[in-house]
Amino acid sequence: MIIAINRDRKLVRMNEISENWLQKARSYLQFQINLGFREIIIPRNAPPVLEAIRTELGECVRCPLHIGRRNIVFGEGDPRARLMFIGEGPGADEDKQGRPFVGRAGQLLTRMIKAMGLDRAQVYIANVVKCRPPENRDPASIEIQTCFPYLESQIAGVSPEVIVTLGRIAACALLETREPISALRGRFHDRNGVPMMPTYHPSFLLRQEPDRRCKAEAWADLKKVMELLGLQVSGNGAKL
Ligand code: URA
Repeated sequence: MIIAINRDRKLVRMNEISENWLQKARSYLQFQINLGFREIIIPRNAPPVLEAIRTELGECVRCPLHIGRRNIVFGEGDPRARLMFIGEGPGADEDKQGRPFVGRAGQLLTRMIKAMGLDRAQVYIANVVKCRPPENRDPASIEIQTCFPYLESQIAGVSPEVIVTLGRIAACALLETREPISALRGRFHDRNGVPMMPTYHPSFLLRQEPDRRCKAEAWADLKKVMELLGLQVSGNGAKL
């Protein structure tokens, strides 16, 4: 895989045609070296794309969220996952551990993934903002905008077949809309050619308990995703 940095300083994946040309260019340059050039340096072992994005992010101080954070929560999972979940931003547990969705909401997300017949290691999980907003407030629009190129690069790097957004903030950020989650969820949206299913945020689902109606709706959303991925659609999500 060959990665380039575009004018907006986003990491983007080269398409197959460019990749072929660049491989030919490498062979040609090797030929030139054999002819007598002293030095042509082209790195052969570029780091995998997600690591390159993490390196570029560094110890980020690009927005005020860095002030109160303990850890940057970059994201985790299979770098070639077919399915990518995108949440809003780290909470207290995630901030402490530097991993996404590890608190109570995370445990529910893990059950949702299991109910789909998958496990966490088979999907990729990221957030719109990578540092915890104080008091778990909604991330401000400048914070979302500042962090967004990194999420966009993660999406390009993973190149999932389907994206599931969790909650209003993620759905609205990715679709550039202000519509309520109730109007967005339950159907696929075309996001730059990738089907995206907005569903409820697991924290919201936990707040609704013991009322399970929204959980049932979330399960219906996930079943549509399973169908699209060709996964066996079974069970009623009763374990969620
Ligand atoms: N809520 C989120 O949106 N993301 C997390 O990582 C944890 C809780």
